[in-house]
Amino acid sequence: MNILNSCKPENVFGIFEEICSIPHGSYNLDEIRAYIIDFAERAGIEYTADAYGNIILRKPATEGYEDKPGIVLQAHMDMVAVCEDGSGIDMKTTPPEIFTEGDMIGARGTSLGGDDGIGVAMALAILDSVVISHPALEVIITANEETGMEGAKGLDMSLIKGRQLINLDSEDEGIFTVGCAGGARVKCYIPADSEAAVTSSQDTFLEIRISGLKGGHSGTEIHLGRGNASKLMGRLTGSTSVHGRSAVIHDVKGGNADNAIPADCMVRLSLPSSDIEGFIGCIKKEAAVIKSELSKTDPGFTVNISVSGNTDPGLCMSLMNFTSFINSLPNGIIAMSGEVEGLVETSLNLGILKIEGDRLVAEFAVRSSVDSEKDALIKRLQSLTEGFGGTNTVTGVYPGWKYAPESPLRDRMVRVFRDMYGHDPKVEAIHAGLECGWFMSKAPDIDAVSIGPDMQSVHSTSERLSVSSTERVYEYLLKVLAD
Ligand SMILES: [Zn+2]
Repeated sequence: MNILNSCKPENVFGIFEEICSIPHGSYNLDEIRAYIIDFAERAGIEYTADAYGNIILRKPATEGYEDKPGIVLQAHMDMVAVCEDGSGIDMKTTPPEIFTEGDMIGARGTSLGGDDGIGVAMALAILDSVVISHPALEVIITANEETGMEGAKGLDMSLIKGRQLINLDSEDEGIFTVGCAGGARVKCYIPADSEAAVTSSQDTFLEIRISGLKGGHSGTEIHLGRGNASKLMGRLTGSTSVHGRSAVIHDVKGGNADNAIPADCMVRLSLPSSDIEGFIGCIKKEAAVIKSELSKTDPGFTVNISVSGNTDPGLCMSLMNFTSFINSLPNGIIAMSGEVEGLVETSLNLGILKIEGDRLVAEFAVRSSVDSEKDALIKRLQSLTEGFGGTNTVTGVYPGWKYAPESPLRDRMVRVFRDMYGHDPKVEAIHAGLECGWFMSKAPDIDAVSIGPDMQSVHSTSERLSVSSTERVYEYLLKVLAD
């Protein structure tokens, strides 16, 4: 302890260091929740803990602010607990071992939990203070944000009186987030075709592997033009013309998560030996075309073709059926915003392609800041799947936060920012999810802005939090409350 005692503001970093001393990865929140409740009891703060693991804390207005509209501060108590491969650190029981390095705070071999421990620390420091001026305050500290926003989803918004909400879960000082995408996970199940099974014991088994792509986050990096390995596999198999006509697919593996652009994809297939030479020639030719298309965005794109010793038929789907399904799937940007320049409005990502039993499964992360566009895109995937005799599931649906043309809170926060920093903040909407989407869906009259201090590489073992940026953002937040 006391590694951060030279960091200012002392009260904020004192609380942050206490939070860091408690393991608090998602679903491992009993201890952090007990800490927050104990904190409230010691400070004489009224609180409510709900069935979803959220805690709401309330503090009356300070003198002179009794008739001003209340403010809601919001952060999440869980962190993405990741450690370096082979470190053997059990983050369920071992808290991050924090260190400072110049202006930055990090944790040895693990993620730090600046996301969103610093948001919680700032909110608690304000509640604990007897000198900060503010209107009536409500602080919402949600549970399990990082695993699908379960806390925000469950929160009863009728408990919240304030209509101006400041979310403290952003990672760039000077950037205000004022809109986010909603999303859903859509799985398409395509049955194997019986005709392929008849011809499946063919002479030669091949594996085609695509690798070396950059991949990336399916929300914040979908506009960068990076290749999707599973979609590119459809290009390769679709290029084989007559040579692939009697080929049969037996296994497919592309990507690991619906919300990550897949960097690799493998198919195992069989075909008559007489077709092999022509088939491989077509694949190589198409691979060269793709390689030149991706020379800027994905210079590492590589295709390997090898004879497979694995002759297990597994699933049997004709290559033609596989190809037409993959090539029919929409992917990437569907629409750009007409209101916010440069913002992707609607997109989807074919994140996982695999075999489950006797079915081919394609799993998508669908995102849109306009809920009706998200619904229309889900319907499009459903119709397409039905056309191939398949079925769908839709899970993990979360609402978007549409940019509000009028926002008195945003105007006030921009003005206070300008007074303090001498220039305007950047005001942005993002193509990723924030808990604000859930709050707005239940209480559409809430006016919200999301801010936070500079952080780097959150959700990874290189996560860093800037001390000086935290100090400025905290000072700024106090000015907003006083204003
Ligand atoms: Zn966060």
